[in-house]
Amino acid sequence: MTYDPNNIFAKILRGEIPCHKTYEDEHTLAFMDVMPQVEGHCLVIPKVGSRNLLDAELSTLTPLMATVQKVARAAKTAFKADGVQIRQYNEPAAGQTVFHLHFHIMPMNEGQAIRPHAGKMADQGLLAKQAEMIRNAL
Ligand code: 5GP
Repeated sequence: MTYDPNNIFAKILRGEIPCHKTYEDEHTLAFMDVMPQVEGHCLVIPKVGSRNLLDAELSTLTPLMATVQKVARAAKTAFKADGVQIRQYNEPAAGQTVFHLHFHIMPMNEGQAIRPHAGKMADQGLLAKQAEMIRNAL
C-alpha cells in the first residue's frame, strides 16, 4: 500500500481545494469534516504524507497527537460537550475512505446519536461558523 499524493487531503494541504480551518501549525492542519457525524466534527492531519497510521513515522505522530489533544479540548469547550470521541480508520476494510492519515474529533453529549460515516454534506456557512467557534476556544 502506497501513499497517493492526489488524495483529497493532500489537495487541501496544497491549497488546491478549500477547507474550514480550525488550527494549523508547522506540522499539522485541522479542519471541519464536510460530512459531519456530529456537530463540531473535525479532522486533524499531518503535513507529511502517510497513507494511515500503519505506515506513519513516529516523528509524524508526536506533533499530530499534540494537535489532536489541542483541537479535542477546543471542540469540547466550543460545543459545551460532555466528552470527545476520537476515531481513526486504516484501510478500506476498516472504513478508511481518504488515504492520508487523519484523526476524527467528535464532540459528544450524553446519549447523542452519531450520523453515518461520510454521509450527508453540511451547509458551508454552518461549517464556517463552527470552525470559528473552535478557533475561538483554542
Ligand atoms: P475516513 O473514512 O477516511 O476515516 O474519513 C474521511 C472523512 O473525510 C469522512 O468523514 C468524510 O466526510 C471526510 N471528507 C471527505 N472528503 C472531504 C473533503 O473534501 N473535505 C473535508 N473537509 N472532508 C472530507
